[in-house]
Amino acid sequence: MKRRDSQANKIYRAGNLIADGFTFDSLPQVQEYVNGITKSNPWQAWGGQNRVLVTEPKQDGFASSCRTNRISLPQWAWNERVILHELAHLLTYKPCNHAPHDASFAGKFLQLIGWQMGTTVQLKLIKYYGVIKVKYHTE
Ligand SMILES: [Zn+2]
Repeated sequence: MKRRDSQANKIYRAGNLIADGFTFDSLPQVQEYVNGITKSNPWQAWGGQNRVLVTEPKQDGFASSCRTNRISLPQWAWNERVILHELAHLLTYKPCNHAPHDASFAGKFLQLIGWQMGTTVQLKLIKYYGVIKVKYHTE
């Protein structure tokens, strides 16, 4: 049975309220940032793949991740916040269209934000999760 991705809009709203973090000028720079994450101990402890390929979408302008080892990012998405959103999908992978923005995704995104962007940004996100009523859990 296919479940609705009922939290998607709330997640986008909460995410948009925090800072973008670092922004990058080129795809190789984004790849380098992602490599730094995927080689790290926390990423591997969370079960992430050793290497995640970053590509640009061929057609539409959306950022997406429908596999466990690849993310697709148009130029507007070359910032830490959106990259961490897509990486959280890889760590909470479910077949595409199967409620990808559920409570475990929201929790993993929160962990990645705290790890890469710091506690202040993480606390802001927790606050916005509360205001917008985003469900999340961390293991
Ligand atoms: Zn998403």
